[in-house]
Amino acid sequence: MKVDLHCHSSVSDGVLAPAAVAAYARKGGVDVWALTDHDEVGGIKAARAAAQELGMRFVAGVEISVTWANETVHVVGLQIDEDNPTLIAGLAATRNGRQARALEISAQLESAGIPNAYEGARRYVGNPDLISRTHFARYLVEIGVCGSTPEVFRKYLTEGKPGYVPHRWATLTEAVGWIRRAGGIPVIAHPGRYPFSATAEGALFDEFRQLGGNTIEVVTGSHTPDQYAEYAEVARRYGFLASRGTDFHAPGESRLEFAELPPLPSGLTPVWHDW
Ligand code: AMP
Ligand code: MN
Ligand code: MN
Ligand code: MN
Repeated sequence: MKVDLHCHSSVSDGVLAPAAVAAYARKGGVDVWALTDHDEVGGIKAARAAAQELGMRFVAGVEISVTWANETVHVVGLQIDEDNPTLIAGLAATRNGRQARALEISAQLESAGIPNAYEGARRYVGNPDLISRTHFARYLVEIGVCGSTPEVFRKYLTEGKPGYVPHRWATLTEAVGWIRRAGGIPVIAHPGRYPFSATAEGALFDEFRQLGGNTIEVVTGSHTPDQYAEYAEVARRYGFLASRGTDFHAPGESRLEFAELPPLPSGLTPVWHDW
């Protein structure tokens, strides 16, 4: 059974509509599939209908942006009720501020010699409530400032680089609370991507566990193969369940296509063990 529990549609910063992501995942051999758009559940109903049509088991998901210890951490929620009012209100509050942030990003890029970035990024936006750095990155690739989106994030939009605008997202307590209120399973997304010391990372996992979290992503398109092993060890040590997903955004843009996602390392309990 091929399980993929992390990917994006044009409802956040992916390029395909939810039904098209479902079809692309199915073509890549996926049997159990979650859509996990950033801070938004607007694509869930279309994704579920398409998945059922294609004979895939569907898992309603979301990826919430969190600020923890002054860094951005992503918390995925799986098996959520997308109609839960607490979750919906929390996500709306989290999305709030993206518009003002985008204008500030654009002003900084203008000062760095790149005009009209806001208008350029907007052409890639599928959901007016959700303009993200990814949309700016695609525009900078389009106009030839960089050759790829990873190169954009090395040279722009990140701490210390032009176009970086710090932003305060949800708290870890809020994000885990909203997911649990909606009947879902909170998951620390791609833990290998955060710039934490071992001590800070341990504190994140301890706090997450105290809030009721018990799952981390181990195999994700946002990890290197070395990090699969590293976070498999973390999952064993903490007794966490393990999750797995491509973090797909666009054909050819992510590290892994659906068909290329490796299985979880042995000795782990998958988050889907009792589904
Ligand atoms: P935002 O929520 O607007 O801060 O945008 C975050 C998104 O930017 C992430 O979900 C990724 O899709 C993308 N992103 C962040 N860092 C990188 C990176 N180093 N390489 C490629 N994409 C990235
Ligand atoms: Mn993204
Ligand atoms: Mn993420
Ligand atoms: Mn993601």
